[in-house]
Amino acid sequence: MRLKSLHIHGFKSFAKKADLSFTTPITSVVGPNGSGKSNVVEAMRFVLGEQSLKSMRGKKGEDMIFNGGKDISRSNRAAVKVVFDNSPQEEDKRLFGTHSFDEVVVERAVNRDGTNEYLINGSAVRLKDITELLAEANIGSSGHHIISQGEADRLLSSSNKERKEMIEDALGLKVYQYKKEESEKRLDKTKEHMKEVESLRRELAPHIRFLKKQVEKIEKAKEVRTELTSLYKEFFANEKHLLAVEEKDIKAGRVEPEKEYKELQDKLKTTKELLAHNDGTTKLTEGLFVLEGKLRDARNTKDGYSREIGRFEGEISYIERSIEKKKMLAAQEAEAESPDIQVSLKEVESLIKKIRTVLNDISVGNYASFDEAKKASKDLVVECESYVSAQKTTQKKDDGRFDTSDEVAELGKIKESIKEVEGKIEDASKYEQQILKEYENAKQNIEAEKEKNVEAEKELLKIMSRQHELTAELDKLQVREDAYKQQKDFYEREMMEAGVLVGVHAIRFDDVQIDVNIDRRTQQEKLHTVEKFKIRLEELGGAGDEAVLKEFTETEERDLFLLKELEDLTKSLADLEVLITEVTAQLKTMFDEGVSKINKEFSTFFKQMFGGGEAKLVITEERKKKRKLTDIEDEDGEMESSDDENDSPVEIGIDVYVSLPHKKLKGLSMLSGGERALTSIALLFAMSQVNPPPFIILDETDAALDEANSRRYGDMIELLSHHSQLILVTHNRETMSRAGVLYGVTMGNTGHSQLLSIGFDEAAAVAK
Ligand code: ATP
Repeated sequence: MRLKSLHIHGFKSFAKKADLSFTTPITSVVGPNGSGKSNVVEAMRFVLGEQSLKSMRGKKGEDMIFNGGKDISRSNRAAVKVVFDNSPQEEDKRLFGTHSFDEVVVERAVNRDGTNEYLINGSAVRLKDITELLAEANIGSSGHHIISQGEADRLLSSSNKERKEMIEDALGLKVYQYKKEESEKRLDKTKEHMKEVESLRRELAPHIRFLKKQVEKIEKAKEVRTELTSLYKEFFANEKHLLAVEEKDIKAGRVEPEKEYKELQDKLKTTKELLAHNDGTTKLTEGLFVLEGKLRDARNTKDGYSREIGRFEGEISYIERSIEKKKMLAAQEAEAESPDIQVSLKEVESLIKKIRTVLNDISVGNYASFDEAKKASKDLVVECESYVSAQKTTQKKDDGRFDTSDEVAELGKIKESIKEVEGKIEDASKYEQQILKEYENAKQNIEAEKEKNVEAEKELLKIMSRQHELTAELDKLQVREDAYKQQKDFYEREMMEAGVLVGVHAIRFDDVQIDVNIDRRTQQEKLHTVEKFKIRLEELGGAGDEAVLKEFTETEERDLFLLKELEDLTKSLADLEVLITEVTAQLKTMFDEGVSKINKEFSTFFKQMFGGGEAKLVITEERKKKRKLTDIEDEDGEMESSDDENDSPVEIGIDVYVSLPHKKLKGLSMLSGGERALTSIALLFAMSQVNPPPFIILDETDAALDEANSRRYGDMIELLSHHSQLILVTHNRETMSRAGVLYGVTMGNTGHSQLLSIGFDEAAAVAK
């Protein structure tokens, strides 16, 4: 026994819990009309996951829930539970191979809000899980093994397509179909996914192309940078060398001229000092002037003294002459009448002066004529004679007049004075000689000084001229140094720029071999090359390198990932296509084989039921006619529609062919109600025989049968029950008689169904 029990609670008319145990191959459910028998069948449909409310005579989920009876209020929930025996049986096979439990319990409940709950062995699952589980046990969703009331001829009245589905279900092909559908779904999803991936790759492509170009640029820039780095290093190393040489050269070049200049500066100082000192000439000259003054004074003093002596000598001679005169006068007086008179010397000198003037004027010709000169001489003689006569008359005779003692005394005094003055003259002479000597010395000194200055000036000029030369030389060096400094500045700036542009490697050039013979021109050429590379680098740009590289790597990785995914998808697409082809082929084989097996059984059952005749299933192939527009234009230029049958999908179906014995009429439409029911049942039985489901539920499929056919029906049921458990809702005594267990369903006037196990007699009574 595969089906163990069914438990209904709150479902439709079953307000209270109803438990049905299926301990025998055939179980019958009997009871009066409207007691709730069909609700039991529907409870089974419900718990097996039926989604069509219509097939359970309802419109909404709520209709499945007990709606209240006479003394019982409505339920909030309808729950049905079916218990399967899953213990290993023939060939150690379990009904549900995927479950290792000996019992599999499937439950379904619906709430008033319409929500459904599904459980397998107490665990909440999805409907899909239930469907898949049941498919394993050949309990298909088409429900071919549950024939509801009034559906006795269901297998005949359904379309070819529906019939085919039921047969597939009965043949247990659903599992493969699920597999195929699943694969097809996966195939569609894969295709969709592939399209998405392809579209993503298409979107990425231009970006990758752009990034690639950028990366190429960056790579080129990297090359240029590397090249520039080595150019820089070479340039810097040589530049450092050149600068060092130049600096050394300039420094060395300065030493001599600077030293010489300094020495000259010292010399210049000394010479200038010397010259400044020689300004003493002036002082010397001034001294000379002083000495000259002194000499003049000394001479004047001496002259003064000489003149004094002259005056003394004049006085002496006057006095002596006076004495002489006195003596002579005394003698003359004694001897002659001419009186001896005294005259004024001053007056005599004045007369002499006048005589000299006249004589001088005559000798130089100051007179205009000889007469004037004669007259002047005469006047002079008259003046002299008048003076003498005047003197003779005024002077009178004196007795002591010839005494000379005073004069002699005077003479003595004067001679004393002369001696004194002469002493002074001697002193003055000595002094004069001394000054003169000093004067001569001073003069000589001045000459010597003058001589010295000329030499110093010459030296000064020489120094200055040399200094000028040296300054020019140093100026040249200064120009070189300025250039050197500029060059060094440039070098330092360039290093900084290099550091920024290509990194610190460019300024670490100690390892570079220096060209010791390099000259500035070659270096300039090198710099030119450096500049060229700098421009190239600038043209290639460099900002955001890292970001671009990162983005490129990432984007490429992403593209590779997508490519890989596409490959995987292509592979799984191929795998799926192979799988689908295989499954399709397998399904076809199984279907064809299954149909022919069913046909065999069908023919047997049919013959058994009708005592002959023929019945079989025929596989049909129908092309669905689809009108579609093609691009063909007719002569009028109008679009022509054409039926292209070859393009439309072929729909496989199953038709039923029957031929009753002794009747010429063929075809299902010609059958009576009972005949239809019998044929349908024969087919159902044939189907169940080929691939027996664990159970079959038949709700009054025997209703239309007469006694003889009821018997035949009963025989077949028994035959069938060898492979499948049967639950039969019936009013038919014959059918009831074949059941091992009978359940009676009653409702009475309570409004809810009640279930009770009954004996055959009770059942037969109920059936009546
Ligand atoms: P028959 O022999 O005439 O076919 P039956 O025994 O199969 O009758 P069912 O069709 O199973 O009877 O039961 C129908 C009964 O169930 C009706 O009386 C109906 O009122 C009752 N019923 C159906 N749905 C509900 C529900 N949701 N709540 C209460 N009762 C319900």
